[in-house]
Amino acid sequence: MSKHTFYSFLWANYLEPGYESLKTQEARRIKRQLERSQYLPRQALLDWQWGELAALLEHAQARVPFYRRFFSQSGLSPQQVVEKRDLSLLPVVTRDMLMSNPADFASDPLPPKSFKKATGGSTGEPLRFWVCPRSNQWRMAMTRRGYGWAGAINGKRAVFVWSRDIYAKTPLHQAKEKLHRRLLRARYFSNFELSQDRLAELTRLIDEFRPRYLVCYTTSADTLARYAQKTGWRPRSPLEAVVVGAEKLFEPQRELIEKALGCPVHESYGSREFMLIAMECESHQGLHVSAENLMLEITGPDGPCPPGQSGELLITDLHNYAQPFIRYRNGDLATWLEGDCPCGRQLPRLASIDGRALDLIRGLDGRPLTGVFFPHMLKEFPVVKHFQVVQTAPDSLTIRVVPDGDFPPATEAAIVEQVLKVLPGLQVRIVLVEELEKTATGKIRVTIGLPA
Ligand SMILES: [Zn+2]
Repeated sequence: MSKHTFYSFLWANYLEPGYESLKTQEARRIKRQLERSQYLPRQALLDWQWGELAALLEHAQARVPFYRRFFSQSGLSPQQVVEKRDLSLLPVVTRDMLMSNPADFASDPLPPKSFKKATGGSTGEPLRFWVCPRSNQWRMAMTRRGYGWAGAINGKRAVFVWSRDIYAKTPLHQAKEKLHRRLLRARYFSNFELSQDRLAELTRLIDEFRPRYLVCYTTSADTLARYAQKTGWRPRSPLEAVVVGAEKLFEPQRELIEKALGCPVHESYGSREFMLIAMECESHQGLHVSAENLMLEITGPDGPCPPGQSGELLITDLHNYAQPFIRYRNGDLATWLEGDCPCGRQLPRLASIDGRALDLIRGLDGRPLTGVFFPHMLKEFPVVKHFQVVQTAPDSLTIRVVPDGDFPPATEAAIVEQVLKVLPGLQVRIVLVEELEKTATGKIRVTIGLPA
């Protein structure tokens, strides 16, 4: 079955390669490789990853001060890192390390035409890092392939409900971006403050522009779905998919969005450092990792986590030679999924992204509560439109609630009772608010734990 429209076929096969070949032939080669490699046997994929890792480590040893020092002081050589357990011999790198001494992690010299990017700074100051042109081709190709699984293909009409860039752009950059989006047939709608008026505006845009798919922050899709449910609005032209990202997707949200917007939801997981890290295919059973470009580890206190056990994510970018990210701890928790996907792709799968390590809510005994507890419990209370749980002290919790109409005291008591069943002994307070606190990039943290 072809997921293409006439224009997206034209775009993918003629316009986009032409556009890319203005920069490099690499894009076409990577695209062709990725179409095949997603179905390669698991072992062939692993062999590819290890080959790319070996080349990256040699580059890091020769050109990056931090790794030159590490290999000389440890007596280890890149050639000694040959299997999975050897990875633990390499240092884990954190955002703080990269921020405190940027030059130590950049390649010297930089590959030609390397450029700087920055994270959104959702947890404070943005991280600025270098990207080489080849890595950029890789990350764009991974994103296109992953979105393609949802039928979200460049050249099909699409509406992006996304955050505005928080960085200033030059007028030339803005003009180029505008032209590119027009050619792509994409419309952007800021997800900043989706009030009733703005939602009405968004539904008008969807009805007039007739997009095939939407790409939204999870909370924005959820907000639009609630609006649709309340007002009876349905997209005039049926949607093929809603791709959600930037925030974790909880199952009750998926059900709500699919029902209200009448199409499947595909969860995506990405970040500014790597673009698409993992994405749901048409089988909707976990998220396939962008494994040709990224090597993922999930680790706990006792080493690598087996499938089913949540742990901290370590990410190695196999192709960014401007600033190698090797075993980079991005602060997110995730869980591996075992077994084969019905879609036939052999790319490893994540069962779930379990939020940020900083966002864990803990009981009096210090044990973390599963991240899915609050969304599942609170979906039983329709009067709770949006919420945010904040641990203000080891023994106290505040639940901020944006109510949908009246909020009776009996509901408050019932919610507190449910919380105390899983977090006995805690002081639980419910505070009604009009809006929830957002990060600089417009994300809503569902839970906010105590600072480390
Ligand atoms: Zn699959």
